[in-house]
Amino acid sequence: VSQVETAALRFSASRLKKYMACPLQAYFRYVEHRPEQQNAAAVFGTVVHKALQVFNDTSSYTQAVETFRRLWNDPEEIGLHIDFWPRYTNYQSYLEKGLEVLERFRDSVKWDQRQVIATEHAFLVPFGEYELTGIVDLTELRRSGNGKRLLRVVDYKSGQTPNQMALREDIQFHIYVYAVDQPEFWVGNGPDFPGLPDGERLFEELRDVPRRAIWWQLTPPKEIDAGPRDEEHYLRLYRVCQQVERAHRHEVFIPRLGEACQFCSYTQECGVPFVQHEKPAEDPNRWI
Ligand code: SF4
Repeated sequence: VSQVETAALRFSASRLKKYMACPLQAYFRYVEHRPEQQNAAAVFGTVVHKALQVFNDTSSYTQAVETFRRLWNDPEEIGLHIDFWPRYTNYQSYLEKGLEVLERFRDSVKWDQRQVIATEHAFLVPFGEYELTGIVDLTELRRSGNGKRLLRVVDYKSGQTPNQMALREDIQFHIYVYAVDQPEFWVGNGPDFPGLPDGERLFEELRDVPRRAIWWQLTPPKEIDAGPRDEEHYLRLYRVCQQVERAHRHEVFIPRLGEACQFCSYTQECGVPFVQHEKPAEDPNRWI
């Protein structure tokens, strides 16, 4: 099996999402491995992820806020730097947004009985002749007022709020909810994808608990139920994998001019006029 064939058979959730947005962009990123420019929105999203992980792991809101302030002040600490700022944004505006996200998140879990099963859990699961990988931001068990249990697969999102159709067909959630049903998610799959502590027991204990995909919007902060997933979703996911594999085999990556170009790192290679990228904003409050 050649390197390209191996790459075509293992799909990460983010790679498939990029194909859906623009196949040529995915080609530059995953086949040519060209570096991506980092915009402030993406760095902000990663920093908020880290702070929420601290909150979910420790239940300490204070520690989460401290983590957010520290990393947003110096994202180099986790190997990130900002190449450009989206229009009308600056350091202070993101600082305020981040603190609001943490406050809303804390309030949203205040009254609920919940058990954090895993945070930032990386998985590799088989899917027919393919393999699916991804990192689930939060897997948690909640108990509703009538005592029923629900296994929630939560993903933090920093883009625009999607419409209902986009939510129901979000391919990342197809993958995550499918993965949760596989034993490999719980017991692990090789040294790069370790299992959860007591994963075998958890898999058995929770296999019949209904699953739910949760889109946790970071800006403006709110939770949106993206619904359940079933066989039909997985069939569509399978078809996507097949088509991406075919694109690799035939080396056909059609550019999808449109919305994705605004946030694309490869406008120069592609020949699309420069749209959104700006120099870092001058902000006197940058280091406070
Ligand atoms: S500039 Fe637009 S069409 Fe070209 S690779 Fe990027 S997203 Fe695709």
